[in-house]
Amino acid sequence: MPLRAKVATSVSRTAAALSRAAGRGDGSVIGGWIGLKIDPDLLAHLANGRAIALVSGTNGKTTTTRLTTAAVGVLGPVATNSFGANMPTGHTSALAKAGDTPYAVLEVDEHYLPQVIDATNPRVVALLNLSRDQLDRAKEVAMMAQLWRSTLVQHPDIRIVANADDPMVVWAVTPPSARERPPLVTWFSAGQRWHDDSWVCPECGSSIERSGDQWWCVGCPLRRPQPHWLVEDDGVLDPTGAWHKISLQLPGRVNLGNAATALAVAAQFGVRPVDAVSRLGSVTSVAGRYAQVIRDGRNIRLLLAKNPASWLEAFDMADDAPTLLSINARDPDGADTSWLYDVDFAPLRGRQVLITGDRAYDLAVRLEINQVPFQHVRRFLDAVTAVPAGRLEVIANYTAFQDIRAELDRVN
Ligand SMILES: [Zn+2]
Repeated sequence: MPLRAKVATSVSRTAAALSRAAGRGDGSVIGGWIGLKIDPDLLAHLANGRAIALVSGTNGKTTTTRLTTAAVGVLGPVATNSFGANMPTGHTSALAKAGDTPYAVLEVDEHYLPQVIDATNPRVVALLNLSRDQLDRAKEVAMMAQLWRSTLVQHPDIRIVANADDPMVVWAVTPPSARERPPLVTWFSAGQRWHDDSWVCPECGSSIERSGDQWWCVGCPLRRPQPHWLVEDDGVLDPTGAWHKISLQLPGRVNLGNAATALAVAAQFGVRPVDAVSRLGSVTSVAGRYAQVIRDGRNIRLLLAKNPASWLEAFDMADDAPTLLSINARDPDGADTSWLYDVDFAPLRGRQVLITGDRAYDLAVRLEINQVPFQHVRRFLDAVTAVPAGRLEVIANYTAFQDIRAELDRVN
């Protein structure tokens, strides 16, 4: 590495360590920020010589990154940004901190994917899904798919691992014209419960029809590709036709899909699924997501849900038990809570529902329209005393989730 990059790496690590020592989080953002100020090419220098996988999409990035890191770990030490700092500052900090690892698996915010691809020259990019998120500032889904598409066409040598079930992802991976070289794509099927951002074909504007697992455009050739990796029962079918039982400590079919994705990405590094499956089972909670805490006889489980698609998945994961919903609208959450109207809360009817958070009253109006009875509590701990002993499911958006983790003494 050039001298400037060495100095930048060292200062970045020190800044992150100081920030941690001062109790200001894990320090990855400030560490990376300082490193990039000293050497704007630091991320490229740190990436050089490593085999890198990038994981991007609206939902499931953090968990899939963690599972992929576990799977690639069969080969040796893997650098990763495991705390969800998924912009270039976080990547820089993660690689600086990791030292010389031959491999890296990095979660990437979908807006930053083009610039992180340019900087890190990855071997593999995994594309999970695209759906509406942070309405006040995120790009529209079709614009995001276009951004990915125009980026990928400039990098035909990168191997793509992509979700066959999401029409927007499939279109983003499809070259814009027959002149372009088709990318090297491995398709996985992780399922997709949320369809409300892909009723219209991004290529021709015709409608997209669905039947069972299949989807197709009625006006052009865009349709679901045949997946190479897919979830079947409680396991994953690999491209050779071998089936691997997956025993996860994470709930829900969506996490089986994330496991299939992790195995598909690890296979691009030469990892055999038989060697990786047991490592997937070692992943418990991911930065507090899915954490279970016993408090006063209540078994509290934390589910993070940030946008309509992830709320739908959370309802599927949650047991039929008392459920606390918490909504904030601070900076990391996005200020616009109108997305609550894109979520159908009907699955909660019949459960004891409690609400809290800065924007609990937005939620209250939504639940009333959806005819879901609820009770408002001022604080998370009030919800604990308001429900009987046994399971309490907690579904919260980003900062609401962090607040509850803090009340539970920063569970991991
Ligand atoms: Zn079409």
